[in-house]
Formats: sequence, C-alpha cells, structure tokens
Amino acid sequence: MVIGIDDTDSREGMCTTYLGALLADEISAFGEHVGDPLLIRLNPTIPYKTRGNASVAICVRCRNPGKVIDHVVSRIESLSIMECENTNPGVVFVLESDFEVVKKELRSFFRRAVRDVIGIDEAKDLADKLSLKFRAFKNGRGLIGALAACGAMLNPGWDHTYEYLAYRKKEVWGSRRSVDSGSLYEADDCTYPETWDSVDRENNVVVCVPRSPDPVLYGIRGNSKHAVKKAAQMVRSEDIERSCIYKTNQGTDMHLVRAAGVDGVEAMHSYILEGTVENAADTIQGGHSIFVLKDDSGQSIDCAAFEPTKNFRDVVRELLPGDRVVVYGSVMDNTLNIEKMKVLSLAEKLEKRNPGCPSCGKRMKSAGADQGYRCKKCGTSANEAETVRRERNIEAGFYEVPPCARRHLAKPLVRFTDSENTLFPAR
Ligand code: ATP
Repeated sequence: MVIGIDDTDSREGMCTTYLGALLADEISAFGEHVGDPLLIRLNPTIPYKTRGNASVAICVRCRNPGKVIDHVVSRIESLSIMECENTNPGVVFVLESDFEVVKKELRSFFRRAVRDVIGIDEAKDLADKLSLKFRAFKNGRGLIGALAACGAMLNPGWDHTYEYLAYRKKEVWGSRRSVDSGSLYEADDCTYPETWDSVDRENNVVVCVPRSPDPVLYGIRGNSKHAVKKAAQMVRSEDIERSCIYKTNQGTDMHLVRAAGVDGVEAMHSYILEGTVENAADTIQGGHSIFVLKDDSGQSIDCAAFEPTKNFRDVVRELLPGDRVVVYGSVMDNTLNIEKMKVLSLAEKLEKRNPGCPSCGKRMKSAGADQGYRCKKCGTSANEAETVRRERNIEAGFYEVPPCARRHLAKPLVRFTDSENTLFPAR
C-alpha cells in the first residue's frame, strides 16, 4: 500500500517530513517497507505553503492494510496542528490491487502539482474517480500534496536525490539547536560534491540547520544514500530522536518548464526562458537588482535577483544591453525571480573617451559644445571622440544563487553533467 500525506504542520511547529519519518518507523511493526520513503517538493510558488511545500509518501507491504490505515489516520489526527487555520491535512491510501489502474493519472497529477496550480475540488474529484481511500481534514487542501506524493511513489522514474533528516527530541523542540558548525564544514569538505548545500562558504553560513521551531535538527542533501549518511555520521550535535533518509525530487529542476517566449509565461509557474538583456540592472530599495529581458518576439519581462541572493546580484549587475542569457526561475507579480542563469554571449562594452593628441600623446580637451577636441599644448584638434572596448567582468557560462538562497527544487550546478555544458564551482 502507498500512503501519501501532506499539510500537517504550521509555522509554530511540526513538519510533515517528521510525521513521515515517525510513521515510517512505526509502520515497521505492521509490515515491511518497499523502497525508500519519498519527500516530494511541489510548486514552490503556492501561497498556502508553510515553508518548502513538501509532501511525503511511504510504501509498505502489510497483511492488514486496515490496521495501518487506522494507525496513520489516528497519528495525523493527534499530531497535526489542526488549530492553525492554514493546516488542512490530507492522506491518501492506494492499495496494491489499484496500482496499475491509478498509476497513469496520478503520474500526471504529480507532475502538475510540481509545476501548476491545482484546486482542492480537482483533487477530491480525482480521488473519488479513482475510488481511492482518503481522508481530507478541514478544507482538504492537503489532499493535493498527498495525491501527488502517491503519484511520485507509483512512477519512480524521475531524477532524484536524497536527504538525510535528523529530528530533535520532543522536549527540546522550539529551543536553540545545538549543532557544531565546524563538524558541518568538515562533513562538507569530505563529501562535496556528492553532498551540497550543507554550508555556504562564500557567505559563511550554515544552511542545513533550520531556525524555525519545527522538529528538524539538520538535513544533509546529496546524490546517494551513502553520501548523505557519511556526512551525517560526521556531524556533532545534540542527541537526536530519529533520522530518516528520504528519496526526493529536491535539486532536480522538476518545477521548470521551457518557455517559448514571454507571452506564454504565467504567474505562479517556473520557467527556463531565453532572451536578450534590454536594460542593465537597476538596484532598488532593499538591495534587489532587476533587469529587463526581451525575448525574440520583442516582449519583455523584469528579471530579479533579490537581496537574499547576496553575491549573485554582483553577476546580474555586470549584465549589459545586448547580452544573450537564459534565466531559470519562478514568475510572481510580472517578475521572474532568478534561481540561476546561463550567459550565452556577451555584448561588447564600448566607451567613448577624448581622443589622444597625435603629437604629444596626451588626451585632448573638449573645445566646447559641438566643437570637437583640441590639444592646448600642440594646437592639434579632432572632431570625434575615440571609442574604446572595455573588458567585461563576466564570462559566458552558468551562474547560480548561493546555497543560502537556493530553493529546494532548484538543481545546483554541481549536479549538472559536462554534457549540460556548465561551469560549476570547483573546490
Ligand atoms: P512543510 O515544508 O513544513 O512540510 P509545506 O511548506 O509543505 O510545509 P503545507 O503546509 O504542506 O506547506 O502547505 C502547502 C499546501 O499547498 C498543501 O495543502 C498542499 O496540498 C497544497 N499544494 C501543494 N502543491 C499545490 C499545487 N500545485 N497547487 C495547489 N495547491 C498545492
């Protein structure tokens, strides 16, 4: 049986991944796990999300599915933060006998939940149509993520990574976390590039330890179970209650759709979009840098590197009109929020300067408005300014936001292969 769960937490506490890890451990008493538990990240622009728009799925082989269903439902009822207006848990159970019948429709629902915006009624209609067992609490929004997670479990062919999540003991939830940051840097040293985003070296911050009051102590992301486990074994921290290695679509760019042009681009969707820089970046109040990108049909869109993207803004500020780029990111309020960018080609940076005197070699002075240039010493003159080509402080290639600003779904350059033709940061 596949079990999909979503929307059990609030900003004040809990975390659906914790409930998933707890249930994965408890369900071992009822049967045996099939494959890895899944942590699925859905459309990152959804406003109802608590933090990272996650849902989870578990697959278990058991003699008595009814018992498992009762146990899961009672745990969701007792552990979800039901009093929070924005917490609307959903859980879906797909019995093995139904796998083949429901697989295809749940696959496309999963894909859409990562990229599109789905209504609660659509999710309920699909669960009814497929005769799935489910429970939708309160307004039932959690059903969307729960169905999507089941779709991911039943269709395992997608690009994936892993995350080792360590959870705190209940009595310390909400208090300051105790994790030795030196040990995280050491773990990163030993396992990068097989793990990534534990620390942000350029900005000197630990990324893998959250600050919110939820049960997560830290999360190590990587390409394999072996790598994340190896890194986690090196972490020195307070005692943990449990841990779980999830298979996940984090770091895969699954949310991005290639857009033919600006015309088809919609809010609350995420794109890969090619175009030409129309205006160099303006840095507005708050430190956000925004430039205008024009597609080949002449339509334009604002592209932003917001303040939290830190040093990535320096790259964006080097762009000049005429540069050809591909931007990757989500569209909100008519602005594409850049996660990474490929500079395809650079325009020439040309500057005008006063011409040199052919006799003494010094720069001539302006002879007055529209009167050209003159060298006072030698008496030589010239009508036109000189045009010089300046070096650009940016090269063609890929650039990405730093780990501290990375979205869960965004694929870090370190995961790109050579054939994807990237320049990824070497250590
Ligand atoms: P956490 O990361 O701490 O688990 P969260 O950020 O996952 O929290 P939720 O509390 O799960 O946030 O809230 C997100 C809500 O949005 C869920 O009810 C989920 O079903 C719903 N949702 C997810 N994807 C979509 C989508 N594509 N369209 C509409 N609703 C969605």
